Amino acid sequence: MGNVLILAEHQNGKVKKTAFELASKASEIASSLGGQAEAVLIGTNDENLSKELAAYGIKKVYLLECPALEKYNAEGYTKVLADLIAEVKPEVLLAAATPVGKSCMPRLSGKLNSGLVSDVVDLKVDGSKVIATHPIYSGKALVDVKVNGSPQMLTIRPNSFGAGSPQDGATAESIKKTADAGELKSKMVDLVQGASDKVDLTEAELIVSGGRAMKSSDNFKILDDLAATIGATVGASRAAVDSGYAPHDMQVGQTGKVVNPKLYMAFGISGAIQHLAGMRTSKVIVAVNKDPEAPIFQKADYGIVADLFEVVPMLTEEFKKAMNE
Ligand SMILES: Cc1cc2nc3c(=O)[nH]c(=O)nc-3n(C[C@H](O)[C@H](O)[C@H](O)COP(=O)(O)OP(=O)(O)OC[C@H]3O[C@@H](n4cnc5c(N)ncnc54)[C@H](O)[C@@H]3O)c2cc1C
Repeated sequence: MGNVLILAEHQNGKVKKTAFELASKASEIASSLGGQAEAVLIGTNDENLSKELAAYGIKKVYLLECPALEKYNAEGYTKVLADLIAEVKPEVLLAAATPVGKSCMPRLSGKLNSGLVSDVVDLKVDGSKVIATHPIYSGKALVDVKVNGSPQMLTIRPNSFGAGSPQDGATAESIKKTADAGELKSKMVDLVQGASDKVDLTEAELIVSGGRAMKSSDNFKILDDLAATIGATVGASRAAVDSGYAPHDMQVGQTGKVVNPKLYMAFGISGAIQHLAGMRTSKVIVAVNKDPEAPIFQKADYGIVADLFEVVPMLTEEFKKAMNE
């Protein structure tokens, strides 16, 4: 049977948003493959999390209890996932292209000797195979890939599909198992929350980013105000980060984070290829730049040729008015 298993990430007793996206997509492709959507949660036995996943189409949830894996550990995750896969034999395994998915799925694919397509932005089913679309050459081209081996393994770029609406009253069978992480060579002793309590850039639906033209870290406050008004996360170009205006965890691009929001607003960012590599799949791109020839305008859906220091406060005011209406 063509079951689709998702690795559902959770934190602080809550299922992460990326897992709901995976659940909806898994449910859709499982019905084309003649199977059902299932999920695995590692390091918890909380059945409430199963209910949350059921609302997005998951029919069965494996809760793998394992004290050693209450905090993420790549080796341990790989071991317990390999054990579960040997038992339940899913046709397809999906994980999010987050730090967790990016670190454990390649290990797992090596261990299982199966193919993995990473950072998938679209997928469809052809017979018993999933055809996954993912960017190559820093996002300049998209390629369709079919996986040989079993299970077919994919990591999905967050915000590629959307989760859809939860179904009230849906239920999933919960199966509690005690998992053995084996002899771990490393252990996560602490997980430290970043300075910002905003949604991480890689999962954000709205992003406002500043470039070298911001001129100082103090000036980033105008982007903070704009972001706070619309519930966005603030990003930065590498030039802004290298100049010390923003920390590295805000960098978008080839050597920063790959983002995929519904709206990406670029202020004083020229649009270098390495920056585009991190944000070109954004659904709507707005660019504000003084230079009408700036390359970012070739990618932007909406462009404003103007000084960002005039435009940003105006946008913040207009958004505030609109939000209050
Ligand atoms: C191996 C490698 C990896 C890299 N990785 C990354 C990466 O991950 N992310 C990344 O961003 N870059 C990366 N870069 C750097 C990249 O090539 C660019 O240098 C960088 O993106 C430029 O940042 P910027 O657009 O902020 O600055 P600039 O290119 O200097 O552009 C500033 C822009 O602001 C405009 N401007 C100036 N004043 C104003 C104003 N008042 N109002 C409006 N507009 C104004 C200018 O017209 C200009 O277009 C990488 C480079 C290399 C070689």
